Amino acid sequence: MPESLTPELIELRDACQTFAAEHLVGSDSSAETRANIRAAAKAAGLFGLTQPTHSENTPTQLALCVARESLAASNPNNMDSVFGPSAGVLGGVTGALAKSHLEPLLAGEKRASFGFTEPDNVQPTHGRVTGDQLVINGQKSYVTGGADADFVNCLVHVEDRGPSMVVVDTDREGVILEKKFVSLDGSHHAAFRFENVAVPSHHIIGEAGQGLPKAMRQIGDTRLLFAAQASGYMLWVLNLLKEHLTAADNSGEARGNKDVVRWQYANLRIKAFAARSMLYRTARLADQDENIVNEAMACKVFATETIGEMVDTSIQLVGGVALVEDHPLAILYRKVRGWRLAEGASDVLRLNIGRGILELDKGRI
Ligand SMILES: Cc1cc2nc3c(=O)[nH]c(=O)nc-3n(C[C@H](O)[C@H](O)[C@H](O)COP(=O)(O)OP(=O)(O)OC[C@H]3O[C@@H](n4cnc5c(N)ncnc54)[C@H](O)[C@@H]3O)c2cc1C
Repeated sequence: MPESLTPELIELRDACQTFAAEHLVGSDSSAETRANIRAAAKAAGLFGLTQPTHSENTPTQLALCVARESLAASNPNNMDSVFGPSAGVLGGVTGALAKSHLEPLLAGEKRASFGFTEPDNVQPTHGRVTGDQLVINGQKSYVTGGADADFVNCLVHVEDRGPSMVVVDTDREGVILEKKFVSLDGSHHAAFRFENVAVPSHHIIGEAGQGLPKAMRQIGDTRLLFAAQASGYMLWVLNLLKEHLTAADNSGEARGNKDVVRWQYANLRIKAFAARSMLYRTARLADQDENIVNEAMACKVFATETIGEMVDTSIQLVGGVALVEDHPLAILYRKVRGWRLAEGASDVLRLNIGRGILELDKGRI
């Protein structure tokens, strides 16, 4: 649990809380505000936390969880401007691809997105190596930030070599932006079609045929951070409820004096306690180089489902005012719904956890 943190982690936690109070309040999300947050995050040493440093100061998974949870606990605005772009699937690339894509990505000069999800009933995105080029055809249906991205890291089934992660620049001939859309939380996404898109064959990231484990590792790494973010929002919801329930209703009695209300509140506290215990235990296992594939999936499923239930129940306890469009609970309701699908749908993750135990005898749960 978060109790036995080192002095350095306590300092990081406190720095994140201060940063959120000073820079992540207010509802403005203009480009200028975001640029100011990025500058402040760089000055506070938070921007680089998610970027590789190749030094002994590389943050641990526990540090990343502490930072994300502490920021989210203030129900912040523009939290995605605090951390610098991480290398993602480009982590470890060298040579021409590092110069043309990884370095500009880390410097904030190019934007990347991730193309994995495809429409049902179409042939998976596929490619054929011809000379020193890879020619790609297919579709990607749900690329977050895709319309503003300079390139999409795509899963492509390369003929004779297998599934591979490939860098596809969005301005290449044959890359068609079919649709831009906004999901319930207000985030922007794009659907792409690729018609004979030719990319240099060195745009295959790492070894051809190793794309699926690479993509799954990238998704796996982000699952724990998703759980950390959800845990932070749990703390915010519990604080809001505590204030609401200790205040009097029109009978003059504290709202939390009713047994049924108290029961609901205690139930949410139990689940938040469990979600945070799982998160901190798993982050510590990751830092001991243990395989946490099953545990990270469990954390992501439990934390995202718990925050969904917490926001839903809180709206019930606070009443109709919490459903007014700009009420923080109404905004949070829209924000957290997608988390049960993004980075692995809950049902699919449950099946994977079952497989890990029943077929592979892996993991601790
Ligand atoms: C906010 C948001 C951002 C996203 N960003 C990206 C992104 O940047 N890049 C990207 O590639 N994708 C992205 N996605 C897409 C996301 O990865 C998919 O929505 C998710 O993987 C589910 O796939 P699907 O939508 O195709 O639904 P489906 O795969 O059709 O799944 C729908 C439901 O069908 C059932 N189901 C599906 N498969 C199985 C199975 N094998 N076994 C049992 N039941 C199953 C489950 O109940 C599941 O919830 C994003 C989604 C959201 C909501």
